[in-house]
Amino acid sequence: MLKQYLLSPGPTAVPERVLLRMAHPMIHHRTPQFSAIFAETKRMLEQVYQTSNDALMLASSGSGAMEAAITNLCSPGDTIIFVNGGKFGERWGKIAASHGVNAVEIKVTWGDAVDVAAVEAALNEHPEAKGVFLQASETSTTTEHPVREVARLTASRDGCVTVVDAITALGVIDMPMDDWGLDVVITGSQKALMLPPGLAMIALSDKAWGLTETATCANFYFDLVTERKNQQAGKDTTAWTPAASLVIGLNEVLKMMFEEGLENLFARHALLAKATRAGVAALGMKPLSTAPATSATGAFVPEGVDGGAFVKYLRDTMGVTFAGGQDHLKGKIIRIAHLGYYDVFDITTAMSAIEIALNRFGHPVQMGAGVAAAQTLLAERFPAQG
Ligand SMILES: *Cc1c(COP(=O)(O)O)cnc(C)c1O
Repeated sequence: MLKQYLLSPGPTAVPERVLLRMAHPMIHHRTPQFSAIFAETKRMLEQVYQTSNDALMLASSGSGAMEAAITNLCSPGDTIIFVNGGKFGERWGKIAASHGVNAVEIKVTWGDAVDVAAVEAALNEHPEAKGVFLQASETSTTTEHPVREVARLTASRDGCVTVVDAITALGVIDMPMDDWGLDVVITGSQKALMLPPGLAMIALSDKAWGLTETATCANFYFDLVTERKNQQAGKDTTAWTPAASLVIGLNEVLKMMFEEGLENLFARHALLAKATRAGVAALGMKPLSTAPATSATGAFVPEGVDGGAFVKYLRDTMGVTFAGGQDHLKGKIIRIAHLGYYDVFDITTAMSAIEIALNRFGHPVQMGAGVAAAQTLLAERFPAQG
């Protein structure tokens, strides 16, 4: 047998408690029973968003909500500004182009955060822009972008919003939507929310709802105005058949998050991220990001090691699934997740697995160096005794 460990930044591990809740017999979604669960889930979700607006649930992966943001806010021929610092940033441009929306790209070196001054320059050059679209955490490069600062830039511009893909940030870092003035915040089920894939979530500020009134991009399934009417209190359902088992799973996930407490949850993620960075540094692996994310840590595999073969060996021979790199980072990096259902001993497992794999690939490695560096920090998670 080979015991399996899932340490990739999406999909992430699903807690047993959530799996068991979703294993209950199916219920009909047009019933008071489902609506009660739906309404409670939506309320808790809005608390995680830290918004007084509606957090809507859509039956799709995260990209569906990204597309919904563009089609509900824009018309063909409109201009948007997007930050391309990785695979997910690049996706904004592709979605916009597919709807005839003119997408102005701010190209960022993979692994760097966007320079707020570059966003300001783009806004000045394109005063007609409907919004700035970016990731809070660009998962492909394990990098955090300064979304709060970007939102400050759009706040004073009429009809211009900040749209944040927070798929690996919401429920990882403290990112209060209303306080920070974020106009659209998107997330998905299979990352920090500890669920299987298939549910996307999106919330809009009043300013963003204003843009929906004039937007004419075609959308039928992802019509957020229709969704809002159905999902608000009183109706407590979705326009189309909801991903009911995922909504029920989300109900359990959110209860777990509030039992832990959001502050503790953010602190746990920050500690795991810090320990992981220390671990890979102790193994002499160069960090991928100059603005490292709290959700996952990317590092270059050592010179002479084929990163593609390395990640495959870890998964197929050792049973530990990490993520590798895409495009020009393919074969060069490893990405270690620490978002959602992760704790101290997931990080020590990750470090130990990487050390053993480096050894098996003939790379000189001091066994235990990464684990030790991580453990020194991870010990803080438990109270001192005596
Ligand atoms: C996972 C992810 C997405 C969404 O991808 P889907 O495959 O559609 O769920 C988008 N943005 C980021 C930053 C992600 O990590």
